[in-house]
Amino acid sequence: MYGTVLIIGGGVAGLRAAADLADADVGVVLVEKEPALGGVMAAPLGDAGNTTELSGGLELPDLSQIRQRDAIELLTLAEVATVSGQAGKFSVEIRQRPRFVTDACTQCHRCHPVCPAVAPNRFQSDLTYRKAIFTPFKGAVPEAYVIDIDSCLNDPPNYLACQRCVEACEDDAIHFANVSTTTYTREVNAIIVAAGLQVNDSGSLKDDVRGVHPDVLTWMELERLLASCGPSGGYVEKLSNAECPRNILYVVDHVSRFSCLCIAAQIDRLAEQDIRDVTVLHPNQTVSDEDFGQFMSHHMHSEPRVTAGELEGISAHDEDTIRVRHTRLGTQASHTQDYDMVVFTTAVTPPPDLAQLAGVLGIELDENGFVSSGGADSGLTATTRPGIYVAGCASGVKDIRESVAESKAAAVNAMRHLDRRRKTAETVTAPSGRSGLMINGKWLSDEEMRQHFERVLLSLMSSETSIP
Ligand code: SF4
Ligand code: SF4
Repeated sequence: MYGTVLIIGGGVAGLRAAADLADADVGVVLVEKEPALGGVMAAPLGDAGNTTELSGGLELPDLSQIRQRDAIELLTLAEVATVSGQAGKFSVEIRQRPRFVTDACTQCHRCHPVCPAVAPNRFQSDLTYRKAIFTPFKGAVPEAYVIDIDSCLNDPPNYLACQRCVEACEDDAIHFANVSTTTYTREVNAIIVAAGLQVNDSGSLKDDVRGVHPDVLTWMELERLLASCGPSGGYVEKLSNAECPRNILYVVDHVSRFSCLCIAAQIDRLAEQDIRDVTVLHPNQTVSDEDFGQFMSHHMHSEPRVTAGELEGISAHDEDTIRVRHTRLGTQASHTQDYDMVVFTTAVTPPPDLAQLAGVLGIELDENGFVSSGGADSGLTATTRPGIYVAGCASGVKDIRESVAESKAAAVNAMRHLDRRRKTAETVTAPSGRSGLMINGKWLSDEEMRQHFERVLLSLMSSETSIP
C-alpha cells in the first residue's frame, strides 16, 4: 500500500474514487453514514441489470466488487468527528453507530418475518415498507441486515421488550448489548469529500397535489419503480392497479441540467418497456420548446412531446386516470388532458449535515451551501484546505458522467500527497524515483498532471448542450 486516502461518502463519486485508488494500490478508508453504499443512486447501482459503462470511456463503480477489495476499509453508519494535521498527514477520528447485526449474518432472512415493527423503507422512496430489522434493498453492500433502533421495539436497546429476531437467528448474529458508538482513529495522506446531495421530495409542486391520486409520483419514486431491485422488479406499474401506464406526463418544477438529464435517462428506460407516450411540461420561459427538445434528444433516443406551460390544476379523473389542466406559454389557452401517471421533478439541495462536516474538515461552503471548490491555482476538485478534495455533487449539482470524471481527478490529486519515497505501479521505470503520470513518453509534473485531468473533465462537460 502506498499511503491512505479517506473518502467521505459512498455514492457514485466516492465509490469511483475508491476503486481507482485501490487499483493504484492506495489504501482507502471509505466512510458512509447510511447502512449501505450507493447514495442517491443506491438502488440503481445495486441493480444487476444496469450497464456500468458511460460514454467517454468512463465506468460506474461496481458496487458488488467494492466489498471484496482488500485495499478498501468500509465503515458504514459512520461519520467523521475530528480532523487534525495537514496535507500528507491527517489524523482522523471516525465514529460508527451500532448496527446490532454482526458480520456473522448469512442473510438467511429468518428474522425478517418474525419482526412485528414496520416502517416505510426510504431506500425505496417510501413506496414499500420494511421491518425494524431489514436489508435496505436487494444487492445492498454490505449485505448484512441492520436494525433501525428507532423503529425497533427495543428502543432504548437495553430494554428488551422484544427478542423475536434474536430467537429466530441461528447464527447468533444479533446483539443488543453493545449500544455505544465505536471510535476509530486513522492516519491518512489526503481526504476526498464525496458527500453527494439530497433529493427533496418535499417543497416541490408535488406537495400541492400529494394524495390526489396514487399514480402521482416524484422522479425519485419512478426511479425506484425502474430499478430491478425496486418494489415492482423493474417493471413500471401504476400503484393504483398494477397496470402498465399508457401515457405519462412529467411536470418539471425547475429547469436544471440535473432535472433534464434525470428525465432523459428515465424516458429512454421507459421506452425499453414500450412506454413511449410521454409529455414533458416545463415552466421555463427562457428556453424554447425546440431548445428543450434538442437538449433532451441530445441525451436520449426517444422523442417525448415537450410543452412550455404552467400547471393550472390536477385532479383524479377516475380510479385509473389523472386529469391535468395547464396553460401554454404565449397563449392564454387552457389545455386539459388525462394521463395514467404524472411524475414531478423535485429540488436537489446540499445534504443537511454538509455544513457540520465542513466545520469539522475546516473547509468553506459556497453561497448555495455546497463545498466551495476551484480557484485560480487550486484546481477544480480542490477545496479551501490543502490536501482535502471534493468530488461529485458535494460541490454542486452534476450528472453521473461528470461526477465520475471529477472523482477520477480528485483521486489523482489525492495521490499527490502520498509518500513519494515509495514506488507506485506507474513509477517502476520512472527516472530518479519520481512518481506521476507519463503521457507520450514524457513524465508530467504535479501541476501538469492536475491540468491534464482537469482538461479531460472540462472537455467532458463542454461536450454537453448547455441549458440554464
Ligand atoms: S427486537 Fe423485535 S422489533 Fe426489534 S428488530 Fe428484533 S424482532 Fe424487530
Ligand atoms: S436471522 Fe440472523 S443470520 Fe439470518 S438474516 Fe437475520 S440476522 Fe442475518
